[in-house]
Amino acid sequence: MSQQGYVAAPPYSQAQPGMGGYQGGYGPSGTTQPLYGHYGGPNQAYNAPPTAGMLKSPAVGLPPTPASTQFSPNVQQNGAHPHRYPAPPAISAYGQPAQSTYNSMPPQPPPSTQQITNQMSAMSMGNYASGPAAPMNSVAQPHLQRPPPAMGQPPPMSTPQSPTASMPMTSPPMAGAPMSPPPMTGAPPMGAPPMGGAPPMGAPSMAGVPPMGAPPMAGAPPMGVPPMAGAAMAGPPMANMGRPFPGSPPPGVGGFQQAGPGTAGLQGFPQQPGQFGGPMAGPQPGMPGGFPSGPSQLSGPPQKKLDLDSIPSTIEVIENDRLRYEGQIYTTNIRGQVPPLVTSQFTVQDQGNASPRFMRCTTYALPCTADLAKQCQVPLAAIIKPLALLPKNETPLYVVNHGETGPIRCNRCKAYMCPYMQFIEGGRRFQCAFCNCVNEVPVFYFQHLDHMGRRVDFYERPELSLGSYEFEATLDYCKNNKAPNPPAFIFMIDVSYSNIKSGLVKIICNELKTLLEKLPKEEGSESSVIKVGFVTYNKVLHFYNVKSALAQPQMMVVSDTAEMFVPLLDGFLVNYQDSKAVIYNLLDQIPDMFADTNESETVFAPVIQAGVEALKAAECSGKLFIFHSAMPTAEAPGKLKNRDDKKLINTDKEKTLFQPQKGVYEQLAKDCAANGCSVDLFLFPSQYVDLTTMASVPSHTGGSVFKYNNFQMETDGDHFLRDLRKDVQKSIGFDAVMRVRTSTGFRATDFFGAVHMNNTTDVEMAAVDCDKAVTVEFKHDDTLAEDSGAMMQCALLYTTLSGQRRLRIHNLSLNCSSQLSELYKSCETDALINFFAKSAYRAILNQPVKNVREILVNQTAHILACYRKNCASPSPPSQLVLPDAMKVFPVYMNSLMKTAPLVTSTELPTDDRAHQRLSVMGMSVEETQLLLYPRLIPLHNMDPGSDALPAPVRCSEERLSDAGMFLLENGHSMFLWLGQASSPDVIQGIFDLPSLGHLQPNTTALPELDTPLSKKVRSIVGDLLEKRTNSMKLHVVRQKDKPEILFRQFLVEDKGLYGGASYMDFLCHVYREVRQLLT
Ligand SMILES: [Zn+2]
Repeated sequence: MSQQGYVAAPPYSQAQPGMGGYQGGYGPSGTTQPLYGHYGGPNQAYNAPPTAGMLKSPAVGLPPTPASTQFSPNVQQNGAHPHRYPAPPAISAYGQPAQSTYNSMPPQPPPSTQQITNQMSAMSMGNYASGPAAPMNSVAQPHLQRPPPAMGQPPPMSTPQSPTASMPMTSPPMAGAPMSPPPMTGAPPMGAPPMGGAPPMGAPSMAGVPPMGAPPMAGAPPMGVPPMAGAAMAGPPMANMGRPFPGSPPPGVGGFQQAGPGTAGLQGFPQQPGQFGGPMAGPQPGMPGGFPSGPSQLSGPPQKKLDLDSIPSTIEVIENDRLRYEGQIYTTNIRGQVPPLVTSQFTVQDQGNASPRFMRCTTYALPCTADLAKQCQVPLAAIIKPLALLPKNETPLYVVNHGETGPIRCNRCKAYMCPYMQFIEGGRRFQCAFCNCVNEVPVFYFQHLDHMGRRVDFYERPELSLGSYEFEATLDYCKNNKAPNPPAFIFMIDVSYSNIKSGLVKIICNELKTLLEKLPKEEGSESSVIKVGFVTYNKVLHFYNVKSALAQPQMMVVSDTAEMFVPLLDGFLVNYQDSKAVIYNLLDQIPDMFADTNESETVFAPVIQAGVEALKAAECSGKLFIFHSAMPTAEAPGKLKNRDDKKLINTDKEKTLFQPQKGVYEQLAKDCAANGCSVDLFLFPSQYVDLTTMASVPSHTGGSVFKYNNFQMETDGDHFLRDLRKDVQKSIGFDAVMRVRTSTGFRATDFFGAVHMNNTTDVEMAAVDCDKAVTVEFKHDDTLAEDSGAMMQCALLYTTLSGQRRLRIHNLSLNCSSQLSELYKSCETDALINFFAKSAYRAILNQPVKNVREILVNQTAHILACYRKNCASPSPPSQLVLPDAMKVFPVYMNSLMKTAPLVTSTELPTDDRAHQRLSVMGMSVEETQLLLYPRLIPLHNMDPGSDALPAPVRCSEERLSDAGMFLLENGHSMFLWLGQASSPDVIQGIFDLPSLGHLQPNTTALPELDTPLSKKVRSIVGDLLEKRTNSMKLHVVRQKDKPEILFRQFLVEDKGLYGGASYMDFLCHVYREVRQLLT
């Protein structure tokens, strides 16, 4: 189709280079500079107007110039390096927890159940053995500065030279042995012991746990792994599994085929000291002392029930990370530093690398070569949430203005000025960190260097010292070289019979009256500049003129849906405050105007077409909020028919259920993407609607799809309204293009998200809100150097809420290593899972679901086998060895394989599967983590007087109890589960009913009672609803009632309801696969 917008319009289009191609592109050709070319060649740079330049004092609402507060602290930190060894600051930051983690395991709230108690005590022990330790970075930091001392700056410099160096102790990478275990997840850098020698902390504090080196084990299984007691693994486990795993070993990867397993000697176990050994060790009741080993068992008897506590626990991993980072300040001055988990609360201080709130990586130490990457099969990816919201106590991004010429960039690769650029020749030139091109520094930007080679204005310029900041974009970055108009929101309401009858139209109109008062606005500005417009439709479309001068709104009907056009320009998109009276009037009238309708057919594609045409006519970008009921069957473009066919499930054609219909919607998606028209779809279906096709525009324009099956006002009204409020008020950017640049040796090759791509590099998003994330995969082009590391720069060009064109830059530097142990140590499981979820969900568009699951299993086994073979200390073959940072990787992978899109059950509605598939594509790491490992919170023993949220427990039936009450939520669904022996006091306190038997089956709300218990439970539920991206409908379910099945499918450690193994069985299976790979 025409890619009109960006493509067609000359100015906009041509340029490819830059941001996505903007530099040249948008701008007047005259001014642009040659893209490639001259290394060091002359540059026009000098002509630049000597003007502006400086950090313009923060634009609207932004924080004042850095000057002191903000930057100064860093001065000490960054500046100093050279000699600060165990850097003090650091310590304070991470350090202290050191012991606290162990010793002071905070007093746990009264455990709700016995099991919990056990579990907690287990966790408090070890785990992050090295964890808290002093920031090793401090150590590393000093040396390594990149070539020119330049700044003492953050990332690059601090670099630990060689990985090895950096991870001093913890792991002697290779050697044989005992130590190797990867330090914990979160923390490679820091976790490590400051200096070299000492064993990370662990030791002493660890109660019974053997310090690291030691032969941990004693009786305890190192990693918990279930190598399963003899019986366990063997063949049988499989049997139990819901679905057999493909037995065949994966194609040989990298070096597996060869030799045998743990080659060297089997000394102890995998010690991953802290991690597994620790926690599991002590308290493991169920753990058989020695793991009988393997071989024999493989054929063994049916599996015995193993204690859940003997296998790695997500709850424990989360809790340990929380204890380690909570309340801490996380500074981003170290290259390759693994951040705290998404589940921990911490404060970020930007010191040269983007906050993990904006960017997270699957590993923070890239393998140096493509061969190594292939060998370990750990995907290399970054999950970028470019407009992520920052907590109030973190500094908002600074806005930099480089004057009329726009942001300073590398002439060759077009990367933007950032902390990694190296100033040379007395400050007259700078060498690009991404392509090495030497560029002239424009006269107005010239600054002297200090004795360390760093510009003296280093701390005054965010673009020289921070990981994230924004540039004001010049007209060259605007469509048609014109400053953008304020964006618009168009509300398009299906007024066909079912929406009228359900009362939906009425509540939407009512809600809009208050919601429009709260349209999002730029921080600090008085009111929102967003324009609003209204359309209603069934088989025809009704546009409304709500110009402020009118006494009454005017309706214009367009019945020719084949040639959609917008019948009015003036008065359609208006400022809400100006036209409030007319709009109120309209919103009051709409429900009545259609009250007697019996029109049940609707159009859909023409509605989107009308929206995009209206935005085009107004020359602005914006968002359509469409409230739609059923499959569009009226005669018009985009008419759909039922193509749902359960017989396709589990066949090679199942993929067609996930593939949208080609044609109209595909064109429309391109048209919307090109014109900055994002679409959010609120669906209220009572049967199949071909969601895959209906969602194709939202899923290519940075939009969202909300679905309320069989909508009923009483049970779904609040849920829907909460979603609507969150959605409309969200912080959002429009007409966005994102480009990810990398230093030489690797590059971004694939992108996953609600995005549209016209070429291989520019990620187009008609709009991008604060919750949308794009997952970017990287591949090697060449060998990466350990000393220089790997840099990436994400640049997002977008229009702000107030209609300003901006460039948001996020920079991140990673380590590179030729040691796989470094890579494993620096992995982030939650990020890995985000990548796997998106890539698997995309893969089912092209191949059978069953194959996709097999690939996931095989890849899991390969990743673990490679670790075992290359990084773990020798251990008996009977043990499954998991890298510390990936301890709970299997539970997430298994959970992923049990999600609706990946299970082949005819019981799941096709639209639900398609909906989940599309929703996940735009998710951030936080969201996929929660989705795949829901929070299960025991409420029956909590202290209503305490503010603390009870500690979550493992998602397994085993943790439930007949007398218990649990809250479960995964960001999309929420359940309050009541055991059949729930105390009448509890039922009385929450529902004002004498007993559980009196509770209505489909209860979805908690009455507002004035009892401590009721208040406490409602406040917990309210806080969670507030915190999550989407609203959730609360389902109250009683143990053993039929609806309980809905709840049980979220107990992800158990066997799947629609197929899929339990966590334990999956681990056994993976263990066998790993063994096969190693022999
Ligand atoms: Zn460059």
